[in-house]
Amino acid sequence: MCGIVGYTGNKQAAPILLDGLSKLEYRGYDSAGVAVKGTDGKHEVVKTKGRLRVLSDMINGGKALKSTCGIGHTRWATHGMPSVTNAHPHHNDDQSIVAVHNGIIENYVELKEKLLGKGYTFYSETDTEIATKIIDYYYKKWNNPVEAMVSFTLRVRGSYAIAVMFEDYPEEIYVARKDSPLVVGVTDGETFLASDVPAILKYTRSIYYVDNMEIARLEKGKATFYNVDRKVIKKKTKTIDWDVEAAEKGGYAHFMMKEMHEQPSVVANTLNSFIKDGKLDLGEAGLTDAQLAKIDNIQIAACGSAYHVGVVAKYVIEELARVPVHVDVASEFRYRNPIFNKNDLLIVISQSGETADTLAALRGAKESGVKTLAIVNVLGSSIAREADAVLYTKAGPEISVATTKAYSAQLIVAYVLAVQLARVRGKIDDGRYSALIADMLAIPSAIEKILSDDESLKWFATKIANRKDVFFIGRGIDYAVSLEGSLKLKEISYIHSEAYAAGELKHGTISLIEDDTLVIGLITQPGLVEKSVSNLVEVKSRGAYIMGVTSSGNYSIEKNVDFAVYVPTTDPLFAASLAVIPLQLLSYYVSVTKGLDVDMPRNLAKCVAVE
Ligand code: GLU
Repeated sequence: MCGIVGYTGNKQAAPILLDGLSKLEYRGYDSAGVAVKGTDGKHEVVKTKGRLRVLSDMINGGKALKSTCGIGHTRWATHGMPSVTNAHPHHNDDQSIVAVHNGIIENYVELKEKLLGKGYTFYSETDTEIATKIIDYYYKKWNNPVEAMVSFTLRVRGSYAIAVMFEDYPEEIYVARKDSPLVVGVTDGETFLASDVPAILKYTRSIYYVDNMEIARLEKGKATFYNVDRKVIKKKTKTIDWDVEAAEKGGYAHFMMKEMHEQPSVVANTLNSFIKDGKLDLGEAGLTDAQLAKIDNIQIAACGSAYHVGVVAKYVIEELARVPVHVDVASEFRYRNPIFNKNDLLIVISQSGETADTLAALRGAKESGVKTLAIVNVLGSSIAREADAVLYTKAGPEISVATTKAYSAQLIVAYVLAVQLARVRGKIDDGRYSALIADMLAIPSAIEKILSDDESLKWFATKIANRKDVFFIGRGIDYAVSLEGSLKLKEISYIHSEAYAAGELKHGTISLIEDDTLVIGLITQPGLVEKSVSNLVEVKSRGAYIMGVTSSGNYSIEKNVDFAVYVPTTDPLFAASLAVIPLQLLSYYVSVTKGLDVDMPRNLAKCVAVE
């Protein structure tokens, strides 16, 4: 995955390209490059390995490149190591055609052989260079950029958002898209393209979402869209109401901290979008009560933290609505030929709505005719467009690679779904229904309280920052939260950690517990307190150093742990929303203590839009 941008207008292009790329660095950041039309009409290409700021320094913040038309890229390598040669833009031999690409060309080996046979030479290891040269081949054949882009679209397999400049068509950019995100914005005399809205929000709020297998010709202040039959298609813009500031750090040292602090409002906004007259209403999302009442089984497919939301959802839905729920990571689900019955529902969860494995799971399931529901943050994303029904999280753009606010927003959506399922299936009465809604409405202020009281966690983080191994344990929903706590710590602190169902530890893993091993125990589920405390005692007697997280007022864990964290009380079914917050804070402060790049941890990218 990566970020691509483009601009044609009356202003100097390169500073605009760099500015747009800076908003997309969360999509990939192992190398960066730009191409602009040079003063002599020839393309100038500047690219580098490493972060965008290296590129920015090379071209004096963009001022060194005079052109008013250009394309840019931040890369997250899939084919070929990060290097200057592999960095985008790629070009044909005389540099008359230059391209930036996000995605993977799956039949690149076959295409490369064909092109080698026709005398082409390759310099990089990337599939993108092959894509560029396929376009060059078709352009030479048809002498028409739209034809070349159509032929490319029909010839390649895989995913791409690709932006191309042809020397013969100065001041124009041609784009095509399949399964990788791409938006276009047009204002007076200027046209922008980007992988994601924040990159161009500063310039325009009217956005075209380019659909799969569409091609566009971008001129100054004008965009013409074509389908693969070369017919011009009329598209409508969507107005984006995000605040520009929402995509910036807003005074915090890191996006992650800013986004953690946005959780109360994000959870409240998401929840309120499903409440009408004091009752839950999923009608607008495309889910009627009658449809919910009919569901026999639910399957959930998702990746990473979204998968962990799925694990919480399983406990909550089964407990409240008594509907069986199966959860799987999407990369497994998509290849295991899952069995669906007539009244089943597949739920896919993805912040970006572009997660490749989740999208593939959705598509595979749709072929079998099962009804599909997506929980997604990005409006107009592939998953949102392709699912039968969508419950949007109102998290806004999330920049930090380690998710916090999108996870919390997904959790509240899962609860909303569980409570409504339980209600329409007659599993809870009016009193319980209202009480659960009231408990959900109280979650934002409880999160706020935990966030405002983080001094002891900050201290504890400095104490444990140089640990090598950490174990998170819990039962039921506490186990689901352990999974997320462990992932958060791994992602941004590079400390090895494992999450275990507390009762499972003794079946092997307990052999790893030795003197001073850090174990973080979660204890929020009433019926499981004694069992979980017993598991803490087991590790304590083997020398473990223990942090415990529990609900205040309910249990006293001080005598069993070395460091106790209390979170406000809520309905135990919703405890994940509160118990996860200290774990997010702990991970954050460990990462800061170690001096690591909190928002852009190594080897990771925000939106995993490749398999
Ligand atoms: N497959 C291309 C490459 O490896 C593009 C990867 C990306 O989306 O950044 O260069």
